[in-house]
Amino acid sequence: EIPRMDLNAMEENYRQKNRTCFILGASGETGKALLKEIVERNIFSKITLIGRRQLTFEDKAYENLVQNVVDFEKLDEYAEAFQGHDVGYCCLGTTKAKAGAEGFVRVDHDYVLKSAELAKAGGCSHFHLESSKGADKTSSFLYLKTKGQVEAEIEDLGFERFSVYRPAVLLVDREESRPAEWVAQKFLGAFSSVFPTMSIPITVVARAMVVNTLKDGEKRVEILENKAICNLGDKK
Ligand code: NDP
Repeated sequence: EIPRMDLNAMEENYRQKNRTCFILGASGETGKALLKEIVERNIFSKITLIGRRQLTFEDKAYENLVQNVVDFEKLDEYAEAFQGHDVGYCCLGTTKAKAGAEGFVRVDHDYVLKSAELAKAGGCSHFHLESSKGADKTSSFLYLKTKGQVEAEIEDLGFERFSVYRPAVLLVDREESRPAEWVAQKFLGAFSSVFPTMSIPITVVARAMVVNTLKDGEKRVEILENKAICNLGDKK
């Protein structure tokens, strides 16, 4: 448990370090919530979004964001975009339904791993990866296997600190329609007090990533399962 006062003190302490960060997937549901947390808490001296398209924001609080638009198929040509960030957050991902099996692996594995490599080479010391509950490189399910593989390969890159988040079903009012997810959410949302390990609000994931950033890492590699994410992200 981290009381509110402590969180304020941790933010202030972190601010003094003048750290910079980048976010991959800031246009996505988790990424958007994460960006909001980061902007509101004002904990970084510079925030860079790395994505495949330029984003527009109405809010004045977002006007100092730096945006690097890259071609993920040719990331090596964009190594510069990944240089000079202390902290990296990855909320990138697609689905088999959207991109096909091959497309899914390309995004959730190839783009993510390559981005992590470039970030490491560019001086990033703390890398955060949004993975998934059940991630397991030995799984026979493509989704869980891919998530597990990319976790393991990024671990091998040797970041000073590597934080893996494994949320369960994300509860969110998604802009894009995903009927199966909608049904799962209605069900799990209604029963979230009965099955606390089966779902998690997206705002809680985002907050957990930020609170964890402010904390001193005790381990070089840490894996936060759904329950740990809930505990950490439950702070005000
Ligand atoms: P979203 O689907 O809302 O957002 C995905 C992000 O990835 C967007 O920023 C999107 O950019 C980017 N992206 C997707 N495809 C491409 C591509 N081909 N090239 C470049 N960028 C791309 O993500 P969520 O917040 O729902 O999920 C985040 C992560 O959490 C994913 O890895 C997901 O697998 C994982 N997860 C999801 C769960 C769930 O219940 N949904 C449960 C557990 C984990 P653009 O806006 O340009 O498309």
